[in-house]
Amino acid sequence: MDLLHLRADFPILDQEVHGHPLVYFDNAASSQKPRQVIETLVRYYQQDNANVHRGLHELSMRATDAFEATRKKIARFIGAAREEEIIYTRGTTEGINLVAQVWAAQFLKPGDVILLTGMEHHSNLVPWQLAAKRSGAVLRHIPVQEDGTLDLVAAEPLFDEQVKVFACVHISNSLGTVNPVRELCAKARALGAMTLVDGAQAVGHIPVDVQAIGCDFYAFSGHKMCAPTGIGALYGRYELLEQMEPWQGGGEMITTVTLETSAYKAPPAKFEAGTPNIADVIGLGAAIDYLEAVGLENIQAHGMELTEYAYQRMSDLPGIRILGPQQPRASLIAFALACAHPHDLVEYANTYGLALRGGHHCTQPLMKRFKLPGTSRASFYFYNTRAEVDRMMDILHQAVKFFS
Ligand code: PMP
Repeated sequence: MDLLHLRADFPILDQEVHGHPLVYFDNAASSQKPRQVIETLVRYYQQDNANVHRGLHELSMRATDAFEATRKKIARFIGAAREEEIIYTRGTTEGINLVAQVWAAQFLKPGDVILLTGMEHHSNLVPWQLAAKRSGAVLRHIPVQEDGTLDLVAAEPLFDEQVKVFACVHISNSLGTVNPVRELCAKARALGAMTLVDGAQAVGHIPVDVQAIGCDFYAFSGHKMCAPTGIGALYGRYELLEQMEPWQGGGEMITTVTLETSAYKAPPAKFEAGTPNIADVIGLGAAIDYLEAVGLENIQAHGMELTEYAYQRMSDLPGIRILGPQQPRASLIAFALACAHPHDLVEYANTYGLALRGGHHCTQPLMKRFKLPGTSRASFYFYNTRAEVDRMMDILHQAVKFFS
């Protein structure tokens, strides 16, 4: 990959923070946006801005075409069978909540089992806890082993006839673990369970094919893959979307309305009430164009190479404990240093222009599992370089001396 050329697309990276060159290693929280995406937003607002679907005038038609073109791009990008299987959301959290509210309200009964894992982000835990409370269903969790992988032996007896929902993170934001979602979803579907995958850390980082995974739902966020914040998508198998009741009611999602009752449009419109986030949908389309031009295989290969390099170098740090398996691992390394609390370390790093993240990373049960108050996390994307990893290592070695 021509990294220097790509970096030029991210003007934000070219700045100093506290008198030092910025090293942005907080990509798992949110990625940076290339100027192609930023320019798409500006162009939309300067030339095409109008409400979608309703208008027969030129601007509305342009906005609608671009808005719907993104749906096609997403469907192709994640391997959906048809574009109607793509519902726009605010992000992963909203996608999971949609399913945990609508599907769960219709199909869960007291005593049914919702099977999750011990490494879920709060956004794939709390919505199911709420669904369990409302329906009388019970929660089960596949345990996490010391090496940060799922305990597939302990998982065996958890997959029984009572399981009606299986929801699992594709790539853990706190461990970097890449879960065998295809095998796990196959197990759950053989029992007749509905399956959902949290793809927040996967889409835009590794090639994703929802049909190959075989899940019923797959949720992701645009902002972690070069797109604006406030936009994401939920993939849902069309047959299930058809069976589901609408989520929010309002304009856009109906065919006819009387004072007493309404008839609803077919999916995805049924789940998209009100004026959508048009500009950011179009921005997400530009992000997909950009990522496809770079190449998902290139992005994945660069991430693996950089992470492997960082892993090797970090292993030498005195008092370090790195969480998660060495292989296969996504482009992030979460770690604890014996000498410093993650918040102190991250604040220290910030004074040298290094952006890390410290805390529980919205995975409190996982932190408890590893008996840690939190971790520090360095997460990479394709615009990061080995030289930046070297810079991080200088700062971390300096930090060990400072805190020891
Ligand atoms: N799941 C995982 C694995 C994540 O990393 C995140 C974001 N940190 C989310 C879900 C939630 O994504 P969002 O906040 O964009 O809805």
